[in-house]
Amino acid sequence: MDKYNTEKSKALFFETKKYLVDGVSSSFHKAKNEEYPICMTHGKGSHMYDVDGNDYIDYVAGFGPMILGYAPESVNEAVKEQLKKGSQFSTPTEDLCKLAKKLTEIIPCAEMVSFQSSGTEANMHAWRVARAHTGKMKIVKFEGQYHGWADEQKVTIGADTLEELGPKSSINKLMNTAGQRIDTTNDIIVAPWNDAESLEAILDAHDDIAAVLMEPYMCDEGPILPKEGYLQAVKDMCEKHGVLLIFDEVITGFRLSLGGAQQYFGVTPDLAIFGKAIAGGFSLSMICGRRELMEKVHPSGTFNATPIAVAASLATIAELEKPGTYERMDTLGKKLTAGLMELGKKHGIKVYANHHNAICQLQLGIDRAPEDFRDCLQNVDRKAYDKLFLLATQYGVRLTSARGRIYISTAHTESDIDKTLEIFDFIFPMLKK
Ligand code: PMP
Repeated sequence: MDKYNTEKSKALFFETKKYLVDGVSSSFHKAKNEEYPICMTHGKGSHMYDVDGNDYIDYVAGFGPMILGYAPESVNEAVKEQLKKGSQFSTPTEDLCKLAKKLTEIIPCAEMVSFQSSGTEANMHAWRVARAHTGKMKIVKFEGQYHGWADEQKVTIGADTLEELGPKSSINKLMNTAGQRIDTTNDIIVAPWNDAESLEAILDAHDDIAAVLMEPYMCDEGPILPKEGYLQAVKDMCEKHGVLLIFDEVITGFRLSLGGAQQYFGVTPDLAIFGKAIAGGFSLSMICGRRELMEKVHPSGTFNATPIAVAASLATIAELEKPGTYERMDTLGKKLTAGLMELGKKHGIKVYANHHNAICQLQLGIDRAPEDFRDCLQNVDRKAYDKLFLLATQYGVRLTSARGRIYISTAHTESDIDKTLEIFDFIFPMLKK
């Protein structure tokens, strides 16, 4: 198996870097341990093609949105039709009404919806709704969970060691970026996730909490499944304390199921945030929830729910609603992750892999499911994953630089999985060198 030549990517990246901060448009477009990222020309289905002409089997999915693969026919057609009519009106349209209604039908907590353009903005809006409704200011968020790049959202993100994370149940002041306002930590409480007792203690100790905000299936690290009964326990606790429960479903929305993690696990929050996959590759995000909460704050934003994003979202939903779609992605995920576990055994490498519809996970250095963020920091071999990421890229498989998350799309095929396993069979021994 030959290593890819990526000289043109290298040259293009260093040229871009002269004019564009970091040479990329978002920090995760380049992995921390990459000298340069691969520069792409196009994608089709489950494959991407770079400026040197190399062909990659892709599990990055544009960092989540491309649940139908790259350049999906039906979304492209819907967008082309809309382009002829106009890309931006700043008025309601028939399709906007259709989409809002559809989303209230498919997402359990959604009595009403409100659109934004990114997951960051939708999170900001949800925090404001929670504060407006309760008249309280504090938000409980969880260790290692990412909700966006605004000042408050970035508190505690980016810990690489337990020491950096600080003691359990502390109000961790870890900052992630220069220029972040220190006082943003005043209204944030950070709790360990998947630990109902710690949360109960926090809710008992504070009477000024507006909401508990979580990724219901923790994907930003791990991914990590909620323990049996944990989500329901949190919901019950929130109800008892008069605190709102918000699910950040920016990753899980449309991936665990059309109705998100709340439908998959059968626990309905007060509010939820969707983004990424909901418009099959176009910028659209949303908060949804109970009517009385949603009507408290009105959204703003020039590009909220452009007719293009609305057309793309309706076309994406129509594809995902076809019978058997999630079962098919789950079957492919099963084949991939079972194969990865087998390869781990064959090559004497500790591997844990699992699959849940359109999200799979792969951890190295551990042969059981990780339980929480601390478990990942302590026991998952993050360095080995980073090495695997580089090797996979060099031999034709794109993994996310976010360690462990693998996205399946409707465009993946059995032969993609076979080929991926063949490549991993070849590179796993190199992990030991
Ligand atoms: N919430 C979660 C769970 C996310 O993973 C992300 C992005 N990775 C966001 C929010 C922020 O979304 P965006 O990048 O669209 O602002």
